[in-house]
Amino acid sequence: MASTWDAIVIGGGTAGMPTAIFAAERAKKVLLIEKYHVLGGTLDRSSGQIAAAGTKLQKQFGIEDTPDEHYQDIIRINRGTSDLALTRLVVDNAAVTFDWLMDSGYTVVKDHPVKGSGHEFFTKRRYYWGPEMGVTIAKTMQPLVDKAVAKGNLTVMLNTGATELMVDAKGAVIGVKTETAAGEKAEHLSNNVVLASGGFASNPAMYMEHHGVPLYSDIAHPMAQGEGVKMGLAVGGYCRGGDKYLCTFGSVLRHRNFPAPLEVALTLYPNMRMPWEIFVNSTGARFVREDHPSVDHREKSLLAQPGHRHYVVFDQEILDKAPPIAPTWTREQFVKAFNTHPMFTSASTIGELAAKSGLDAVVMAKTIDSYNAAQASGSDKLGRNHMPLPIAKPPYYAIAVQGFTVKSCSGLGIDTQMRVLRSDGSPIQNLYAVGEVIGGGNTSGDSFVNGMMVTPALTFGRMLGQSILKFS
Ligand SMILES: Cc1cc2nc3c(=O)[nH]c(=O)nc-3n(C[C@H](O)[C@H](O)[C@H](O)COP(=O)(O)OP(=O)(O)OC[C@H]3O[C@@H](n4cnc5c(N)ncnc54)[C@H](O)[C@@H]3O)c2cc1C
Repeated sequence: MASTWDAIVIGGGTAGMPTAIFAAERAKKVLLIEKYHVLGGTLDRSSGQIAAAGTKLQKQFGIEDTPDEHYQDIIRINRGTSDLALTRLVVDNAAVTFDWLMDSGYTVVKDHPVKGSGHEFFTKRRYYWGPEMGVTIAKTMQPLVDKAVAKGNLTVMLNTGATELMVDAKGAVIGVKTETAAGEKAEHLSNNVVLASGGFASNPAMYMEHHGVPLYSDIAHPMAQGEGVKMGLAVGGYCRGGDKYLCTFGSVLRHRNFPAPLEVALTLYPNMRMPWEIFVNSTGARFVREDHPSVDHREKSLLAQPGHRHYVVFDQEILDKAPPIAPTWTREQFVKAFNTHPMFTSASTIGELAAKSGLDAVVMAKTIDSYNAAQASGSDKLGRNHMPLPIAKPPYYAIAVQGFTVKSCSGLGIDTQMRVLRSDGSPIQNLYAVGEVIGGGNTSGDSFVNGMMVTPALTFGRMLGQSILKFS
């Protein structure tokens, strides 16, 4: 026999937790279905970086900031490629979300907010994260979930996956079918069904299908299998944002049997460490001004390279004199990698280095000659300014760096009421979606914009639970 609920939230992660917490303040019977053995979802590994303008914390620091300025910054960074109505909704409501977290016990790293870190910088200090990154957010919300459960308004089913949405003859969603890890099946009915089950950044087939790109890394949450996207599509929803895929710079993977674990992150950010090395693509040619100040420019340049891969090339003198490029490793670990790790290569000549790395030896030789001439003259064809040393003293080194991202960019189309839409723009009755199930392209556009995954997930989840869902 099916159970009946005021609201059913599928997925208890970044977006699902606030949805359930706030819905349970207004409704007596809220069901949170979570396939994993704990709540929190991607917050267990996410950097949890949030952006919000007009917060109480900013005021304490005397930072004058407004949602308008936040919006303008986002549009400047992604050139208006996100869904503008949803972007506006995030910035207008992010401060309330952030203040709610702070009032609930959330803490941020000393001296936050900041203007930026690994992505393009904001013009104002409105970027925050907790001492335990995403975990700080999960730890803030878990007691609020527990409180709602203790009050009797919220039921949490762990180890239980939603398998299918139930619809009536008119196509309205009326409930959810579930299956526990032990194989027990059940049906749950509601006029408010929320897909908050995350993206598909752990599903190689869906990743290729939606982005046309292999899933290079296995960093995303194991349950990011795209089941919510599939359920939404099965009842008439459509996906958008796959064309907004972008890769980040600086990650070395353990191997090329994709998806592969992250081995080490190199500091290829001029704001943190000016490059002494050159970057070449798989043919051995330079493809970007290594010290270009825009992260976005460097990421888009890498996106245009075959296999989204590049090589960081340098010589013994650079190894000896430059600041560490892999600061989480000791020098001993770093040097040892060149004899042991498939992504690290060394050789006594440039020709041998190219051959060992699978690069074109003739192109590489020309690249090195041309760079050394630019270094000597101070005039580089790509406009690079920071060229402290030539690449001339053997042995020579190359590190293979893989561009990838940890999120899905494509996701279900929704409107500003978070209603899941059909491709003709009509909403599917009773069905809502929040979080990465709507795709990073919707909120971040075709650039990485500070906090534009976690902030909308939390904010839209809060808004849905707090005021948008209607309870009779
Ligand atoms: C390493 C890393 C760093 C990141 N850093 C940042 C950052 O600093 N800032 C930022 O803005 N974004 C960041 N992101 C992205 C951001 O963290 C995610 O987009 C966001 O947390 C996703 O939230 P969500 O609620 O949609 O999904 P999740 O938090 O993953 O929650 C989805 C939940 O649904 C559950 N689930 C899945 N399928 C089912 C099913 N069929 N039935 C029931 N439950 C199901 C899952 O188990 C999971 O608990 C990062 C991502 C990663 C991987």
